[in-house]
Amino acid sequence: MTNTKVVDLLINDEKRIYGVQAMCEGKEITIESRLTVGADGRYSTVRQKAGIEVTKRKHGYDLLWTNSCSRWLGTFNKNGFN
Ligand SMILES: Cc1cc2nc3c(=O)[nH]c(=O)nc-3n(C[C@H](O)[C@H](O)[C@H](O)COP(=O)(O)OP(=O)(O)OC[C@H]3O[C@@H](n4cnc5c(N)ncnc54)[C@H](O)[C@@H]3O)c2cc1C
Repeated sequence: MTNTKVVDLLINDEKRIYGVQAMCEGKEITIESRLTVGADGRYSTVRQKAGIEVTKRKHGYDLLWTNSCSRWLGTFNKNGFN
């Protein structure tokens, strides 16, 4: 579903998840399901609402990410940039 954001889980009295509550184009909707899969990424709402904790591990390196102008960098070929 496009333009739809999960905002909460549907949880019954037995603490079973039976779907999600979502916002779809400004309207709150409920979607019931037998199985709810959280595939909503790193900051998963589904994970948080299900109370699943995250263990963060330090990896010992940093990453620099950039979009660069190719005219400034030159051309990349099998020998690298030139
Ligand atoms: C800049 C960058 C570079 C990366 N490069 C690499 C790489 O080279 N190799 C590699 O292995 N990994 C890389 N990663 C990591 C990789 O992107 C993630 O590990 C992977 O995309 C995670 O996949 P995912 O399906 O769990 O979540 P995502 O790909 O993040 O997909 C989650 C989806 O859920 C949607 N969503 C989020 N919240 C909600 C909600 N509440 N309701 C509904 N939908 C929702 C999002 O809009 C998104 O479409 C990179 C990440 C970044 C940011």
